[in-house]
Amino acid sequence: ASGFEENDVVVIGGGPGGYVAAIKAAQLGLKTTCIEKRGTLGGTCLNVGCIPSKALLHSSHMYHEAKHSFPGHGVKFSSVEVDLPAMMAQKDKAVSGLTRGIEGLFKKNKVNYVKGYGKFISPSEVSVDTIEGGNTVVKGKHVIVATGSDVKSLPGITIDEKRIVSSTGALALSEIPKKLIVIGAGYIGLEMGSVWGRLGSEVTVVEFAPDIVPSMDGEIRKQFQRSLEKQKMKFMLKTKVVGVDTSGDIVKLTVEPASGGEQKTLEADVVLVSAGRTPFTAGLGLDKIGVETDKAGRILVNERFATNVPGVYAIGDVIPGPMLAHKAEEDGVACVEFIAGKHGHVDYDKVPGVVYTHPEVASVGKTEEQVKALGVDYRVGKFPFLANSRAKAIDDAEGIVKILADKETDKILGVHIMAPNAGELIHEAVLAINYDAASEDIARICHAHPTMSEALKEAAMATYDKPIHV
Ligand code: FAD
Repeated sequence: ASGFEENDVVVIGGGPGGYVAAIKAAQLGLKTTCIEKRGTLGGTCLNVGCIPSKALLHSSHMYHEAKHSFPGHGVKFSSVEVDLPAMMAQKDKAVSGLTRGIEGLFKKNKVNYVKGYGKFISPSEVSVDTIEGGNTVVKGKHVIVATGSDVKSLPGITIDEKRIVSSTGALALSEIPKKLIVIGAGYIGLEMGSVWGRLGSEVTVVEFAPDIVPSMDGEIRKQFQRSLEKQKMKFMLKTKVVGVDTSGDIVKLTVEPASGGEQKTLEADVVLVSAGRTPFTAGLGLDKIGVETDKAGRILVNERFATNVPGVYAIGDVIPGPMLAHKAEEDGVACVEFIAGKHGHVDYDKVPGVVYTHPEVASVGKTEEQVKALGVDYRVGKFPFLANSRAKAIDDAEGIVKILADKETDKILGVHIMAPNAGELIHEAVLAINYDAASEDIARICHAHPTMSEALKEAAMATYDKPIHV
């Protein structure tokens, strides 16, 4: 690596925030170096997050469908089996293909790539302990911190990535556990619980809070939880984990009611600790150069992604805001645009969120609880997929579209979709909400028939008028 030369932009971290920022900077004509310690690009998302989880969600869904749904469609097998090593190999192939793809994009865009651990010597100099064992100093006029996040551990629980696993271990189990306990009912826990549940594990989700996925619209959440329960996922809400015993063949987890009370012991082959993620800045030397962080360890930035130290910026999971890959990417582009003297903007209120279970749950904008809390007069339009012809045709009709719109102006405030492909369907709503559309705008647009998207049109009709098909 030619790290001694002066760069316009140095990016520390090659995740969705960092690699996108680096490519965008190079595209804007800035001389750019990206430093990544992992040895592969793509960060948490590509290596141990979004991509491998979606690969396993898809594979396990195919198995589950083959076992439970294919006969109903007139497709019969004599037997269906899981070949776990093959399933893992397909996941690994997807990951390695994509990480190499980013290296290719770096070459194409002439981003200099340094493999190693970066730490600040000064606001414009980063010392890198390279993976090969050397050291190099990378200098830059602007340095962007994109070091992402790491698994949050729980007091008294040591993750060994074999029997007590984080999401990383849960993506690479060598056997299907008979009993899996998931600590934390956020989207990562529910996705990984779904994977192993479909493959045959008995899954129990233990959650301290009274609800699963706290950010979700309450009504949708209730339906979603019922759907997961139908898939045999068990929930122990308002429950606190107080201890874990790994001395025997079976892991014993002691739990008690969140408000205190009688303890219970749960048994599991594998326990997944999925209680959130925490910003990762270890060894970076932020204190040395005086970069301000909040109590949670997140780097504080202004609307231009600049920290309190001139020339140092931060983006992605390491700053406040939704901890999502697409948000990190948007941060990266906007930050670099500011550095290049242009304008960038990311509206955190309009970042979509998707839970990739089956059905999926996707949302954008405000929940009904949030709209109520704002004191806005609103209307709700709903449409069930049971009344959607495409969903019925393919016999996959569990779910609903819910739209919240301002009562007076009809402006869309929030859209929530539970459906097999909600993560794709939501983008019509994302576009609408970003253009300040009214529900009538969606309702009056011709949608192709028969598609799941028609449910969004009908829910929009139901918001200010009446739907046709219910
Ligand atoms: P990261 O992706 O964490 O990347 C930071 C990179 O910086 C890492 O590769 C790290 O090695 C490197 N680094 C850190 N410190 C240094 C240093 N000092 N020197 C050099 N390199 C360093 N989000 C979604 O939007 N959709 C999903 O479906 C989704 N699924 C997920 C599933 C799981 C199981 C997990 C764990 C996460 C998932 N996420 C998902 C969240 C998503 O992965 C993160 O929001 C995203 O990766 C954040 O991007 P980032 O660039 O900020 O940080």
